[in-house]
Amino acid sequence: MRSCNSFRTNQSRPRAMARLSGLVIGPALIATALMATALISPALAATAHAAPCPRPGTLGTSRVLEVDVSTMPRVGLQSFPETLPLADHEVVLTFDDGPWPPTTSRVLTALAQECVRATYFLIGEHVSEHPDIVRRIVAEGHTVATHTWSHPNLMQIEHEQAIEQIDHGISALETVLHGTASTTPTTPFFRFPGFQSTPETLDLLQSRGIVVFGSDLWASDWNKMTPKQELKLITDRLEAAGKGIILFHDTKTHTAAMMPAFLRYLRDNDYHVVHVKPAEPAASLGH
Ligand SMILES: [Zn+2]
Repeated sequence: MRSCNSFRTNQSRPRAMARLSGLVIGPALIATALMATALISPALAATAHAAPCPRPGTLGTSRVLEVDVSTMPRVGLQSFPETLPLADHEVVLTFDDGPWPPTTSRVLTALAQECVRATYFLIGEHVSEHPDIVRRIVAEGHTVATHTWSHPNLMQIEHEQAIEQIDHGISALETVLHGTASTTPTTPFFRFPGFQSTPETLDLLQSRGIVVFGSDLWASDWNKMTPKQELKLITDRLEAAGKGIILFHDTKTHTAAMMPAFLRYLRDNDYHVVHVKPAEPAASLGH
């Protein structure tokens, strides 16, 4: 599987957190994960569709925030000077590197049980390998965007290769969504692998009407930790920050295991989940 293995961030910012370390998962584990998903996905999907939202007693999604590239081309304080206009105790939940069975399914079920909508930045290779999970993410109302084809460091490859990575990731998702390999994204949002952008690729994305998402805080879930450790880490950081775009990886077992408790924490501590969507269909932006 592809995974974030390094981040570039502005360490002078008070809320910049940590650097990443690599993680490699072997073919045996991948095969195990595939088999497990084949066995449990139908049951999870049935649970997720058990009751309509909104539902009393759940965290819920408090509002939709439309993000317009003309006014917010780049957001996320860990990479950029600007971020989304969130009020105190408002959070945007984002998940990178999926879809990846069975952890993506567990995260989706946790979100559905609390009637919460999130944003997914999907890796093209994983999209092509697991289109059914992509369709489930969409069916459950989440925003789906892209994160390149195979998750390279775009700072370390030629600009033309970087464009190919971006476009191939978009076309893989569009193929699953609409059956055509368009490089015009239905949802014009993009996140760089490891936040490793270049001025040229940032300019290109802005010229194409695509919003670049960084994050305001993250769970550092690329590191090995228990769900309990991750819960303490992210809730401590959220308490300090008060709000923000939160980055998780739905490919991580500890993140999937922690998600129900994290959503309960948000509910019990009066946080509100904001769902981001594009300000207008990408087709009308043109490029
Ligand atoms: Zn990533």
